[in-house]
Amino acid sequence: MLKKGLLISALALSGAFAAAADCSFDLKGTDAMTFTDAAGKPVPEIVVPASCADFTINLEHVGKMPKTAMGHNVVIAQASDVKAVTQNGVKAGVKGDYLQAGDPKVVAASKMVGGGEKTSVKVPVAKIKSGDYAFFCSFPGHEMKMRGKLAVK
Ligand code: ZN
Repeated sequence: MLKKGLLISALALSGAFAAAADCSFDLKGTDAMTFTDAAGKPVPEIVVPASCADFTINLEHVGKMPKTAMGHNVVIAQASDVKAVTQNGVKAGVKGDYLQAGDPKVVAASKMVGGGEKTSVKVPVAKIKSGDYAFFCSFPGHEMKMRGKLAVK
């Protein structure tokens, strides 16, 4: 009886965890201009389950540097548009979160945060189902290191 109860609660817990983890990803931004996962490992790719209607990327800046020096955001765009988006974003400055207002090449973007701050971005999965999409930070120069593939599977 006890065994059965434990098994059921273990199943319920893993089920709840899977439901919460499936359509979101916890990304960290560092003072070393990198994105890492919760374990501190590099993130070359984020897998988005095709069954999700929306996919949320939660970004935590785990460093100490201010937004003006080492700001991080998460921007979603087609891989071939990343250069244009970051180049247009330079003109917007830190006040504009280094993104051109209403840039049609941007699928989704979080605000820009500094050390100790958190933000998130919700991505409509239907918009990224076909094509080659990337997530990146639009702070000038950061996209060279802070960039990965957003793969719907
Ligand atoms: Zn950055």
